[in-house]
Amino acid sequence: MKNTNYYEVLGVETIASEGEIKKAYRKLAMKYHPDKNPDNEASEKFKEISHAYYVLSDPEKRELYDRFGEEGLSGGGGTNMSAEELFASFFSFGGMGGGGPSRQRHGEDIVKPFPVTLEDLYNGKTTKISLQKDVVCPSCHGKGSKSGATSKCTSCEGRGIKVAMRQIGPGMIQRINTVCTSCDGAGEVIKGNKCKKCKGAKTLEEKKKLDIFIEKGMQNNQRIVMQGEADQEPGVETGDVILVLKQKPHERFERQDNDLLTEVSISITEALCGFSKVLVKHLDGRGLVINHPAGEVIKPGSM
Ligand SMILES: [Zn+2]
Ligand SMILES: [Zn+2]
Repeated sequence: MKNTNYYEVLGVETIASEGEIKKAYRKLAMKYHPDKNPDNEASEKFKEISHAYYVLSDPEKRELYDRFGEEGLSGGGGTNMSAEELFASFFSFGGMGGGGPSRQRHGEDIVKPFPVTLEDLYNGKTTKISLQKDVVCPSCHGKGSKSGATSKCTSCEGRGIKVAMRQIGPGMIQRINTVCTSCDGAGEVIKGNKCKKCKGAKTLEEKKKLDIFIEKGMQNNQRIVMQGEADQEPGVETGDVILVLKQKPHERFERQDNDLLTEVSISITEALCGFSKVLVKHLDGRGLVINHPAGEVIKPGSM
């Protein structure tokens, strides 16, 4: 049985991409980090999400966890780093794209595996997915307040970065640059009254349904690109949502390029004397009649 706890802790699906997991952790960390939220409950929650992210952000650990649950991780997947140290190491320099505003960056693409059946690929299919994404706040147009005026963050002195210390041995201290939790790495904070709708966050979460068109004959691993449907961020060109088709194994057929292979059993009399009968049901539901004349002997493995 699959243990989905770590995914639940971060509020993501088990098929979530690395980017989605990172984003979910980052959001929760900004809410529960002791710098922002000093109460005990928040601190426990912060530990929980940091540990979950520690496991799920490492592809090897994630795979072990997916297959065997927590027991699959040697030593319980533990680490001797504290939650704050973990946070600092995840979002040390460059990890967050923070460190001051830059204009016209390209936003991150969201790449997701998309399970399909062989029938879907053969017959084509129109379906929908629902997507949770950030959109630029329509009330303040992504400024965070009516005027959009900002002032320098006093906590990091406008650098967007703070230095965390970590003891790595007796008398040995390591300095880690980490993102400033007061300004979320922006280096500036909103001056005056924050926008009521987004509370100064500049973006809002929105659920959106997207139509997916699977065309007849599409291949396993083929990508469907939905341009500009990833998270919006003010001043950033929005990235794409990319679905990668993943065909589930089929009980009767195996696909080889554009051919379908299947195995059928026939009796020895049929092999010797010929037959005409419906042997298999095709992917669109129709029965395939196979004629075999008498006199041509079929051997096992023939096509
Ligand atoms: Zn700051
Ligand atoms: Zn707003």
